[in-house]
Amino acid sequence: MRWTLIGASDIAATRVLPAMRKAGHEVVGVMSSSSERAERYAVANDLERHTDTLGEALAWDADAVYISTTNALHHDQAIEAARTGRHVLCEKPLALEVDDAVAMIAAARDGGVVLGTNHHLRCAATLRTVARLVAEGRIGELVSVRVNHAVLLPERLRGWRLDRSIPGAGVVLDIAVHNADVVRFVTGAEVEQLSTFVANSGLAGDEVEDVAMTVARLRGGALATTHETFTVPFADTAVELHGRFGSIYAIGVLTQDAVGTVMVRTSSGDEDVEVGEREDLYVVALREFADATCGQGRPAATGEDGAASLAIALAALESARTGSAVRPAFQGEAA
Ligand code: NDP
Repeated sequence: MRWTLIGASDIAATRVLPAMRKAGHEVVGVMSSSSERAERYAVANDLERHTDTLGEALAWDADAVYISTTNALHHDQAIEAARTGRHVLCEKPLALEVDDAVAMIAAARDGGVVLGTNHHLRCAATLRTVARLVAEGRIGELVSVRVNHAVLLPERLRGWRLDRSIPGAGVVLDIAVHNADVVRFVTGAEVEQLSTFVANSGLAGDEVEDVAMTVARLRGGALATTHETFTVPFADTAVELHGRFGSIYAIGVLTQDAVGTVMVRTSSGDEDVEVGEREDLYVVALREFADATCGQGRPAATGEDGAASLAIALAALESARTGSAVRPAFQGEAA
């Protein structure tokens, strides 16, 4: 698989590019909006080509593009790439409007290419184990889910995420969108309706929300809560699922690393569950994406999954703004 990087980003340099190489993929070059940054990035990351023009980047001999620019740019770049026959792995949130995400899905379909969303948490052995346990009925009928994703935003990432003048800033479009995908993934259920409160806990002043809490009703009747922050240094991340016959506790699992534990509690007692091989989450995502481009299976998170998580995040922002419960404008097929 030969990739072009669209966006001279931190996530590409720190996680995805190393994972591409680990997976045995080739990276042709990088596009940045600034020719100086493109060149610096190419040198720093040992890339042969660099450009500040999307058209030039899309003319390179590559099978796929990985888009990790700031959120407002994903839509146009993905559509252009799909039109030139490049498969597209796009960062979350897929776009800033549900209609734009739907247009990206259509462009991929029309261009005969695969569109994936880089919801890397689905690739964790821990969360895959949780999803399997729920689907097998280990805890019986699901009653409720709690996702705690309270973290401290690293200093180096305190740029556009905290700047209201940049479309797509804030903890909801950054982290709640991942949590929306986690809820859909582990439960196999769509979010039907939700209510959200947001707050400013100090990092972004009054500019953008840096804390959010959501309560959602899932198809089938279970309830879910998600909690995300940019300002909490010492919380464990966790996904808890509570059913009629048992509970699942996945602790330390909402991270970029292949870490964390899964425990099931039933009338038989507590059981630490073996999660199998703990592969690099991004390597798993890339391998499954590459397989999908060869007609084998689907990307870990599809374009539809990205549209569904975006719709939930946008519904959360609307709920926080209006004080009303909101139904997401797009429903995927979580199961
Ligand atoms: P960065 O801020 O590192 O990069 C985003 C864009 O900002 C780059 O494409 C670049 O534009 C521009 N940029 C980078 N450095 C500078 C600079 N020094 N001066 C001016 N502009 C600069 O963002 P992230 O890597 O944190 O996030 C990129 C995307 O990836 C987002 O959509 C985010 O939501 C997603 N993400 C996903 C993660 C995951 O695990 N799935 C984790 C982290 C982020 P240009 O290309 O034009 O140079």
